[in-house]
Amino acid sequence: MRLERLELVHLKLPLVHFFETSFGRVTEHETIIVRAESSGAVGYGEAPASAAPSYSYETVRTVWHIIRDFLARKLQGVEILKPGPIAEIFSSVRGHNMAKAAVEMAVLDLLAKLDRKPLHVILGGTRDEIPTGISLGIEDRIGDLLHGIEKALAKGYQRIKVKIKPRWDIDVLTEIRRRFSNIPLMADANSAYGLSDLDHLKKFDEFNLMMLEQPLDYDDYVDHAKLQRELRTPLCLDESIRSYNDGRRAIELGSCKIINIKQARVGGPYNAKMLHNLCAKSNVPVWCGGLLESGIGRAHNIALATLPNFTLPGDISASDRYYHEDVIDPPVRVTPQGTIKVSNEPGIGHAVLEDRLQKYCVRREVVLP
Ligand SMILES: [Mg+2]
Repeated sequence: MRLERLELVHLKLPLVHFFETSFGRVTEHETIIVRAESSGAVGYGEAPASAAPSYSYETVRTVWHIIRDFLARKLQGVEILKPGPIAEIFSSVRGHNMAKAAVEMAVLDLLAKLDRKPLHVILGGTRDEIPTGISLGIEDRIGDLLHGIEKALAKGYQRIKVKIKPRWDIDVLTEIRRRFSNIPLMADANSAYGLSDLDHLKKFDEFNLMMLEQPLDYDDYVDHAKLQRELRTPLCLDESIRSYNDGRRAIELGSCKIINIKQARVGGPYNAKMLHNLCAKSNVPVWCGGLLESGIGRAHNIALATLPNFTLPGDISASDRYYHEDVIDPPVRVTPQGTIKVSNEPGIGHAVLEDRLQKYCVRREVVLP
């Protein structure tokens, strides 16, 4: 298969409710959709980079620049038979994993559609239904968060993740445990602490958390390993794991016991699968994280989460958790049992609504040919 056309679409999607992490608050999400065309079919990928370099150094503008000025031309006239070689074609560009991932996702969706197979079959998934949890942001009042947890549990979500930061942590977790003593609960700090907070972080052990996610620096392994030796609570790494080799380093050093795999962060589905396989071999369970993706990135995450070592519920929520209108049809829905049924339609398994892409588009450009 040769790509006949590659197009970038920059979307600005209004959120149902603001989302706040230790980086700050957002009320809309900016993301880049990649459309890849060949033989009358269209494949879609997504780089959920957002407007600011907070979670990652990448932004929607760097993604645009890297795909338009570097990645697209590497695909000119290249015969593509499977996704692995794409990661290799891009290896001379350092970093910029979200840009690479979005192109690879689009190519993979296109290959799957041309082959008339669902994405999860192409990836080697083993589940037709995946367990899911929800990630709840920092609120103005603890009561608002408790209300959000109650609503999420009523919808069936299998585990609750709360975002924490200094001064929105111990009191919040104490209140949650007072009200919901047995729910599967975890906390994500997005690097808001340092090793100097060791005594404070040790207090987290009393909350019986499934895991504490990325408490220390976004590029650290050594301090996390020191912290893990002091805590009973398993640590999970997110931001620190940008590649297969980062996963290997973290596992060898004992920096974590669980890994959150985001295909956008690790450079695409091929690298995500390699990392998944390494974790499976090393008895490190994984789960699929989210970056406020539109339905396109969400559908890719669902397909990835069908791989066998995704044993923990991920952050792949229903479309209406973040957006009034999704860009896919049908939208992603969560069953009352807190699962998502995997589509067996070809490719990402959901039709992309081109009129919705246009409605939320702030700019678009054909970058190949
Ligand atoms: Mg995280």
